[in-house]
Amino acid sequence: MNIHEYQAKQLFEKFGVASPKGIVASTAAEAGAAAREIGQAGLVVKAQIHAGGRGKGTFKNGFKGGVHVINTPEEAEDIAGKMLGQTLVTHQTGPEGKLVSKVLIAKSVNIKKEYYFAILFDRVSSSHAIIASTEGGMNIEEVAEKTPEKITKEFINPAIGLQGYQCRKLAASLNLRGALMNQAVKLFTALWNLYLKSDCSLVEINPLSVTDDDQLVALDAKFNFDDNSLYRQKDVTAMRDTTEEDPREVAASEYGLNYIGLDGNIACLVNGAGLAMSTMDIIKFHGGEPANFLDVGGGATKEQVTAAFKIILGDPNVKGILVNIFGGIMDCNIIATGIIAAAQEVSLSIPLVVRLEGNNVEAGKATLASSGLKITSASDLTDAAQKIVAAVNG
Ligand code: ADP
Ligand code: MG
Repeated sequence: MNIHEYQAKQLFEKFGVASPKGIVASTAAEAGAAAREIGQAGLVVKAQIHAGGRGKGTFKNGFKGGVHVINTPEEAEDIAGKMLGQTLVTHQTGPEGKLVSKVLIAKSVNIKKEYYFAILFDRVSSSHAIIASTEGGMNIEEVAEKTPEKITKEFINPAIGLQGYQCRKLAASLNLRGALMNQAVKLFTALWNLYLKSDCSLVEINPLSVTDDDQLVALDAKFNFDDNSLYRQKDVTAMRDTTEEDPREVAASEYGLNYIGLDGNIACLVNGAGLAMSTMDIIKFHGGEPANFLDVGGGATKEQVTAAFKIILGDPNVKGILVNIFGGIMDCNIIATGIIAAAQEVSLSIPLVVRLEGNNVEAGKATLASSGLKITSASDLTDAAQKIVAAVNG
């Protein structure tokens, strides 16, 4: 799960991470009022979308830049008016862009130097890692490729957490000395606490900046949260903005389904992530293109299967469906009943190939056969893939 920058600022405040004061606004008038409340010249108006690269982005109406420095409440209103309700395209949004429905009005600072700072979960070392670089405001992947010597990486032992010496080492690698090193230690520690206590999988500050009056502040924020921890992160979950997400994935998560939309035309409904991946592979192997990854899980109910079917059929690109179930924990007859209920509810008109195997498979097959629905049954994975590809492409 991701959140907006203005929400990240609320977490900054809670955990004591230094960052310019900001107020979110949904209308131009609110933006003006926010500017008045912050009450000084030197403000920024920042479009709130779940994507970076806003500063260099362009709105579809031609207006340039999702981050603007302004000086008066009137300007705040004017700029907010040009952003709100408009679609911002950045190198991270793809050509379709993202609709801006909120802007952040924040105090602007005079930047002396920009840095990159991130805390993330590092699977290779089974620990957390901090990545810091003197090349702030830039694309970090590019820095890693062209000038890897400008990146410092520090691993954090999960058992003992971030240590003071590590903060000082990171600060020194950024040439932050004296009072600035003290600020850095404080800020890094606060960010680490935020990252750990909020179950983040990524906290990225780009840029982390030193201002002309030698204050170290976080100017941007990108947070990712571990979805598996959301049940114990009520405050974070409340920040979820489903309008930023793929509507199919939002619907799937409501039913506890693991769904990821793809570009192909053969939908798959599978139980188990490994089987789902091999199903996608074998569809491709036989010349088809999967429309999604969908794992209904080991203990799916009839309601979940019905919901899964509806999500699949809500995708206009889908021209055929392959159901591939291995009933280990799952009862094949539950899947069969779910398929029939869903097919009847949505009056299914596209080819459906079903491969059932395992627990209670005979009952499942009998249920499908007696349903009167046009279902092609398959004997194994290869047979299933060949049949659905032939039905869709043929
Ligand atoms: P994005 O990464 O989406 O482009 P940022 O928040 O990083 O958005 O903003 C882009 C640039 O705008 C930053 O690199 C920084 O130079 C400038 N900027 C952002 N916030 C402020 C601020 N509060 N004061 C001054 N400059 C800012
Ligand atoms: Mg940024």
